[in-house]
Amino acid sequence: MGIGARYGLDSKPRHGAPHVSLTTPYDPQNIFAQIIRGDAPCYKLYEDDDVLAFLDLFPQSYGHALVIPKRSAACNILDVDTDALCKVMAVVQKLARVIVEELQPDGVQVAQFNGAPAGQTVFHIHVHIVPRYSGEGLGIHAAGKADPAELEKLQARLVSKLAESEH
Ligand code: AMP
Repeated sequence: MGIGARYGLDSKPRHGAPHVSLTTPYDPQNIFAQIIRGDAPCYKLYEDDDVLAFLDLFPQSYGHALVIPKRSAACNILDVDTDALCKVMAVVQKLARVIVEELQPDGVQVAQFNGAPAGQTVFHIHVHIVPRYSGEGLGIHAAGKADPAELEKLQARLVSKLAESEH
């Protein structure tokens, strides 16, 4: 018996996510590709030639951020090139340190999902940084949209702390 049957879980993809398999070709119209091209907005935290980091629009905790490679047309960890992945992880570490310093969470999760059955809903490889606060549960994955004013305030705090950390 699978874990879904044991817990009575709904095994359908969440939030209308398509059944994208691990080998489905990269779709250049995915929302993160649009953000990289500047065709869609984001609350940017960090950018260099290879990596972009921004706030999750449907955050699971206060300070939930995403880090993505800019040059890799890769859906997941299986098809991204190693060099691009290493550059992403270096930014994940830098940003996690800044988030912890500025927001003082009690823990921080770093997560990465591959394929719809593993929880992936956007098919451009990305790493989640999710600060965790004692006694506070996680919000539902990719569900409630955050208040733009709160996202702007958070963006300003983290961008300023990041700048401080680079001096
Ligand atoms: P995953 O389910 O691992 O593919 O994560 C995708 C993440 O992207 C989810 O946490 C969503 O809340 C988030 N997300 C979806 N659309 C946007 C967007 N336009 N800007 C920022 N985050 C987004």
